[in-house]
Amino acid sequence: MLKCREFTSLASEYVDGQLSPSRRFAMRFHLLICNHCRRFIRGWRQTVDILKRLERSQAEPSESLITRIDDALAQRLAERTHPPGAG
Ligand SMILES: [Zn+2]
Repeated sequence: MLKCREFTSLASEYVDGQLSPSRRFAMRFHLLICNHCRRFIRGWRQTVDILKRLERSQAEPSESLITRIDDALAQRLAERTHPPGAG
């Protein structure tokens, strides 16, 4: 029988699907009987999901996006200090 400590140490491989079928079965069985680890694995999955989405979104933008944000901010600031039609 799997213990909670063993479960959490294998959680990463379990979520990534890297465990052997017998290990996976042991993990699933533990999830059935252990509320604590069920909550743990749910939180872990959400974290992995967010990280993967972040990774994907960082694939392209960087420099051009920063420049665009800078320009937009500069424009807003210029509009504030020199409102159109005030000069
Ligand atoms: Zn547990």
